[in-house]
Amino acid sequence: MYYFVSYSPSQPEKEFSFPRSHLAWHLYLNFIYIHLSTDCSIKNKMDPAGAILPLKPPIPHKSRDQMEEKNMKIDGHTHTHYCPHSSGEETAKYIERAIELGFDIYVLTEHPPLPASFCRKLPYPEEVVTALAMKETELDSYIKEMHQLKQKYKDQIQIRVGLELDYLPDQPDWTKYLLKEYANYLDETILSLHFLKGTNGWRCVDLTPEDFEEGLIKYYGDFHTVQKVYYQTLKEAVCLFHPSRVGHLTLCQKFQHYFINGRHVMEEAKEEILDILSITKRKGLSLDFNTAGLYKKYCLETYPSEWIVKEALNLGIPLIFGSDAHAMDQVGRSYDLYEKAMD
Ligand SMILES: [Zn+2]
Ligand SMILES: [Zn+2]
Repeated sequence: MYYFVSYSPSQPEKEFSFPRSHLAWHLYLNFIYIHLSTDCSIKNKMDPAGAILPLKPPIPHKSRDQMEEKNMKIDGHTHTHYCPHSSGEETAKYIERAIELGFDIYVLTEHPPLPASFCRKLPYPEEVVTALAMKETELDSYIKEMHQLKQKYKDQIQIRVGLELDYLPDQPDWTKYLLKEYANYLDETILSLHFLKGTNGWRCVDLTPEDFEEGLIKYYGDFHTVQKVYYQTLKEAVCLFHPSRVGHLTLCQKFQHYFINGRHVMEEAKEEILDILSITKRKGLSLDFNTAGLYKKYCLETYPSEWIVKEALNLGIPLIFGSDAHAMDQVGRSYDLYEKAMD
């Protein structure tokens, strides 16, 4: 029993639909449950870290793609008009900017919706919560519209349709569900950690320095413990899932200059980071070389930091440039710095 009506990204005009009736949903969720259960039990036996991996990674021809990607100009992490905290400019404008800048590959990696049960645990005003990601009802149109853009611009630039998936530590099933449900429609996925447990529920890692202080530093005691918890949680995420790429690995450093000693990474956190790198290598994932941090006044460096970039290069982990553009004029920002780092 499978509910995807055949939809090929190369034929976006073909409609796709999902089970909508009550009974169909019930049967569908049972199907997902059975598959995930089977998956977990197999993988738990196979993976010493106890990792629960999806049945197949979202990119079917990963190694071939990596070969092809050599010497290609890629922006591998970008947002769209579906992001409520973006500039609101049409995605086509971002794409046209990328073409103008001579990019060969442009990856659309929008934030998928957050489950309502998780949003209820975010102690923020409603307008903050709704600005975090698109609505659940918008995901199908996002996928469809992005595949249409992929076709429209196919002679000028290779567009890949993806998502920047969240790791929600207490709800990994949501991310599993998205990967299963949309695997056939996604060319790439980024896995990022934006939330940690904190004061009064789940807190954003990257909202404001004041919120970081209230929600995380007060909860864990100091900046370094937050760092350690962040990297431990990210390690868990990389063990559990098999994305194409790990997103902005050092996001917890976003406000590093705001806090005394924020730039210092203690040994324990370094060990966690090195573990993340070795899991990334072992699983054949790439790392997001994200330049957005350079433009954040309390960060002023790339995600990941320079020393991690060097470690990753030594390990032979592919680093893919990502502007994390939330506005048209941010596409391809600081690509020259990436080129220098890769030299
Ligand atoms: Zn992100
Ligand atoms: Zn992003």
